[in-house]
Amino acid sequence: MLSETPFSHVAIIGLGLIGGSMGLALREYLPETRVSGWDADAHVRAVAARRGLAHDVTDTLEEAVAGADLVVLCVPVRAIEAAASALAGKIAPDCVVSDVGSCKVSVAEAIARALPGQPVVPAHPVAGTEHSGPEAGFPSLFKNRWCIVTPTKDTDDAAAQRVIALWRAIGATVETMAPDHHDRVLAVTSHVPHLIAYTIVGTASDLEEVTRSEVIKYSAGGFRDFTRIAASDPTMWRDVFLSNKDAVLEILQRFSEDLTALQRAIRWGKGDELFEHFAKTREIRRSIIEEGQDDARADFGRSHDNDRGEEPGGQ
Ligand code: NAP
Repeated sequence: MLSETPFSHVAIIGLGLIGGSMGLALREYLPETRVSGWDADAHVRAVAARRGLAHDVTDTLEEAVAGADLVVLCVPVRAIEAAASALAGKIAPDCVVSDVGSCKVSVAEAIARALPGQPVVPAHPVAGTEHSGPEAGFPSLFKNRWCIVTPTKDTDDAAAQRVIALWRAIGATVETMAPDHHDRVLAVTSHVPHLIAYTIVGTASDLEEVTRSEVIKYSAGGFRDFTRIAASDPTMWRDVFLSNKDAVLEILQRFSEDLTALQRAIRWGKGDELFEHFAKTREIRRSIIEEGQDDARADFGRSHDNDRGEEPGGQ
C-alpha cells in the first residue's frame, strides 16, 4: 500500500458499510489524511463516532466538508443527487467530488447536474457484504478487491489520478472504464445475479408443498448461497435496479432466452446439451479462482478469510 497522501482531508458523506469501511481504511492506511464524516441519520452519526469511522463525525454537513479536498458520497444511488446538491456553496471550487455508487451512468450525470464545474471522479469499489449500516464496516473491506474508476469526458485527469492513488493506498486494485461499459459489466456480474437470488429465495418461500423448515434444513444444496445474496440491503438494490434499468433489462432478456433453452433441453432429455453447458460454466468458476476472486475451499473459505470473518461479495 502507498504511504503518499493523495488528499489531505477526505470528507465521507454517508457512514454505512462502504463509507464506514472507507473511513476506517483511510485512518489505518493513510494516517496523515484527515477524515471527517457526516450522515443524514443522527443515530448513524452516534454509532460512527463511537466506532471511530472518521476522526471527526460532525453534526452538520458544512462542518464535515469545510476544508476538504475530496468529498466521497457513500449514500444509496438514488440519494446521490440530493447529497451532491447539498454540497453546493459549501465546498472549494477545486475540491474533488467522488462517490461509490454501484451504477455509474446515472450517478455521473446526477453529480454533474448538481455541481456544474466541480471536478468529479465517479468510482465503484466492487466489494461489499450483505450487511449494511455503521456497525458493518471494517478497514480491510477493499483489500485486493477491484475499484472501478469511471471518468467521464469532463473528468480532469489529474483529479482521476489522485482518486486512483487513494483507492490503491487503501488496498484496492484499480481499473478505469467508461461509465456505460461499467453498467453493462456490473449488470452481468452483480445486478442480474442479485435479481436471480431475490427471485429464487422468494419462490422457495412461496412454495406450498415444501415447508419453510425443509427449505432451511436442506439449504446447503445450493439455496444457502442465494440466501446470502438475497439478504442484501433492500434500499441499495431497489436503487441499483431502477438506476441501471436499461443494462439490467437487456441482460435479463438474454438470461431468460438462455433459461428457456435449458428448459427445452430438460424437457426433451437432451443430456449432451446440458452437460456441455455445465462444463462451460465450470470453466468460468475455475478462472475466477485462478484470478484470486474467490476461494476453492468448501464453504468458499468464507468464515475465516478477512478481519471480520465477513463473507466477501462484489456488489
Ligand atoms: P448503507 O450501509 O445503507 O449506508 C448508507 C448511509 O447513507 C446510511 O446511513 C443512510 O442513512 C445515509 N444517507 C442516505 N441519504 C443520505 C444523504 N442524502 N446524506 C447523508 N447520508 C445519507 O449503504 P452502503 O452499503 O454503504 O452503500 C452505500 C453506497 O455504496 C451505495 O451507493 C451502494 O450502491 C454502494 N456500494 C455498496 C456496496 C455494498 O455491498 N453494500 C458495494 C459497493 C458499492 P439512512 O439509512 O438513514 O437512509
